[in-house]
Amino acid sequence: MTDSAESGSSTSSPRATGLVLGAPVDLVTMEGAMARIGELIARGEPSQVVTADASGLVAAQTDSLLASIYRSAELVTADSIGVLWALGRGGHKLGERVSGVDLVDRICAASADNGWRIFFLGSAPGVAETAAEKLRLKYPGCNIVGTRHGYFPAESDALVAEEVAAFQPDVLFVAMGIPRQEKFIAATKAIHRAKVSIGVGGSLDVFSGRAKRAPAIIQRLNLEWLWRTLLNPKKLPKALTLPRFVWMVLTRR
Ligand code: UDP
Repeated sequence: MTDSAESGSSTSSPRATGLVLGAPVDLVTMEGAMARIGELIARGEPSQVVTADASGLVAAQTDSLLASIYRSAELVTADSIGVLWALGRGGHKLGERVSGVDLVDRICAASADNGWRIFFLGSAPGVAETAAEKLRLKYPGCNIVGTRHGYFPAESDALVAEEVAAFQPDVLFVAMGIPRQEKFIAATKAIHRAKVSIGVGGSLDVFSGRAKRAPAIIQRLNLEWLWRTLLNPKKLPKALTLPRFVWMVLTRR
């Protein structure tokens, strides 16, 4: 269930990972994830961070490109209660999730002090800009240098990546849903050359105020996915992958 792998950079710490449905998930809490992201930015080469949830790991069982992205990403965080549970079965008690929403929040907070340049790509027109405005108010000096909506065909990926490149971001958040955002990043990171690109799903909807986060108690119980599903029945198919995920983990040899 567990393995260790060198990160590929002589300046980075070695990675400790646990395998979940064949995908390596880094055994990091938020502090460890932030440290690794800081290292990746300092390294300066384009790198990919995946926030892994049960739906993505199930999708990767039949999507070989997505599976290869999990394997080649420089950091894969445990973004759901299901992934924490699967890691726990293998003897890795992580204790907390590292979600896309929390990474956006922490990286924006850190960007003023570190000078990190941030770009928001994704969500419906206007959402990324509103999210940026709200985060600039929350964290004065937060260095969001550009935004763009995420409604464009895959054939335009390279063109959009060139638009992003003009802003020279250190961190690119891509909020276009799984697996579109992961595939966009893998296909275009050599063009936009953001030092760290992270797929963050519906996070910009949350920061813009379009989607509400669950009350803190529900977040602490790791039941935010259930809260969001109840508020938005379109998320039901995604929620239904959780029992499938559990079954796959229990029956995997
Ligand atoms: N989205 C987008 N382009 C698309 C399809 C979706 O930018 O072609 C956005 C959508 O507006 C939403 C996000 O992608 O903000 C997906 O959010 P969701 O919570 O469904 O993501 P998940 O993490 O569940 O995959």
